[in-house]
Amino acid sequence: MKLLKLLFVLSIFVSCAAEDDSDSYAIEQIFSDNLEKTIKVDIIYVQPSGVSGKSSYNLNENDFIANLNGSFFHRYGIGLEKGDVKTLNSDELYDLKDNRGRESSVFLQETQDYYREDRINIFVMKRSNTIAIAGIGKDKRALITDEFLFTSTAPHEIGHALGLHHYPEEGNIMSQIRPYLRTDFTSVQIDRLKKTLEKIEEEK
Ligand SMILES: [Zn+2]
Repeated sequence: MKLLKLLFVLSIFVSCAAEDDSDSYAIEQIFSDNLEKTIKVDIIYVQPSGVSGKSSYNLNENDFIANLNGSFFHRYGIGLEKGDVKTLNSDELYDLKDNRGRESSVFLQETQDYYREDRINIFVMKRSNTIAIAGIGKDKRALITDEFLFTSTAPHEIGHALGLHHYPEEGNIMSQIRPYLRTDFTSVQIDRLKKTLEKIEEEK
């Protein structure tokens, strides 16, 4: 019973609804050579058993990382660097439609032995294989559905993966309202992110 309750609480906090984040937005791209903190980002494609490699995922990983840096992170002195590109075979995670309401716990469970502590691990899955989830983020791991990779859902889930909670103000990346307006982190959030990155660096 306790475990069920815990899983329920976990699932409230880590999964983020798909509300309206498909609208396009224009954020000025800002790149910097003067970064205070950098971290590696592995990109892991979720596949059903027996399928290897990227197959039908149509993502340019370099563009994805560059967009995150230019739109959301470099302006705060944080740089993401592309790490490894891998595949995770998991039938449970590949099709989350069967796990409605348990998405976060399935995600954490299925990736438990397959993420690296010294970096951000971004798991990419098909939006069409979920019902209402845009992404999930927790404990250095983010699950981002393929249709939301180039929206504010990506920095939002990375924020969760690095310890940030939801924040009620419209326009904040960690807000749950009007995702298409999300552009900024607060200075308190940036400090928190940098502290988490420092901790990851120390634990290496
Ligand atoms: Zn969220």
